[in-house]
Amino acid sequence: MLDYDLHCHSNISDGTLTPSELVARAAERGVKVLALTDHDDMDGLDEARAAAAQHGLAFINGVEISVTWRTHTVHVVGLGIDPVYPPLADGLHSVRSGRGERARKMADELAKAGIGGVLQGAYHYAENPNLIGRTHFARYLVEAGHCKDVKSVFSRYLVKGKPGYVPHQWAALADAVSWIRGSGGVAVMAHPGRYMSGRKSMGKQAMHQLLSEFVACGGQAIEVVSGSHTPEQYAEFARYAAEFNLMCSCGSDFHGPGESYRDLGRLPDFPLGCRPVWQAIPLSVLISENGPSPPDPLSETTSHSTRLQETAAKSLVIPPAGEGS
Ligand SMILES: [Zn+2]
Ligand SMILES: [Zn+2]
Repeated sequence: MLDYDLHCHSNISDGTLTPSELVARAAERGVKVLALTDHDDMDGLDEARAAAAQHGLAFINGVEISVTWRTHTVHVVGLGIDPVYPPLADGLHSVRSGRGERARKMADELAKAGIGGVLQGAYHYAENPNLIGRTHFARYLVEAGHCKDVKSVFSRYLVKGKPGYVPHQWAALADAVSWIRGSGGVAVMAHPGRYMSGRKSMGKQAMHQLLSEFVACGGQAIEVVSGSHTPEQYAEFARYAAEFNLMCSCGSDFHGPGESYRDLGRLPDFPLGCRPVWQAIPLSVLISENGPSPPDPLSETTSHSTRLQETAAKSLVIPPAGEGS
């Protein structure tokens, strides 16, 4: 199992735990290296870093930037970013400023569909009102008895083709990547499998074009093992990683107890042949102030490969780059 968890959310965006509570839970569950990746906001990083030092965890500054690519919303994670880098801080500020307007439009659309009073209800769940988002709407709609859980709110109301969906212009792909790279971070395409499922999903051709553009503008890695992926998708995106020469990342995409597909940590190993993204993160970033040394990135890779070779029967063979396109 991977003891790296490089994608999770606190209540600074749409998670339910404070940064400190999140870090404590990660430590309890055996995570050794944690990145906090709140949506479009870096305000939780200081608190999380301090908590990580207390728990002896190595901590990586992260963020998850909302991007509009063609008609799709995609997410780009930045790992090892510098939160005071002005283009990144200013860029995220401009991304956040669109959320209030989108929330009002979503509430209007839901009202047309016969569900009133949603705006106030959703804000009630947003610890940070600047980060009001669909998850806060979902929690309110569950509370108000319109759906049994957050997942069904999304499938019935909040995604493309449903009454509460409002298209919104987020950051441009090239901008998000350049803010991350400029601040010294690694740009990671988040949970690509999510963009290929659902009613108005991307086809394989669009996924190839997205990844080509991502690489052309400086993208370096892709999430392979994600709480948002099925095991088949681990294999599928390991093949994309090989084809596009991208490093591989892993993260639970944890939002809160009982709400996420996966809890923090305890992620399965990468498929054979994956180059872990932490090889590109300087060791100085990984070492927490008071904590023990993080796992050695190279020996970590070796042990994963060895373990995977041992289970070769069910391991996944990645075709050489160029195949499968
Ligand atoms: Zn989220
Ligand atoms: Zn995401």
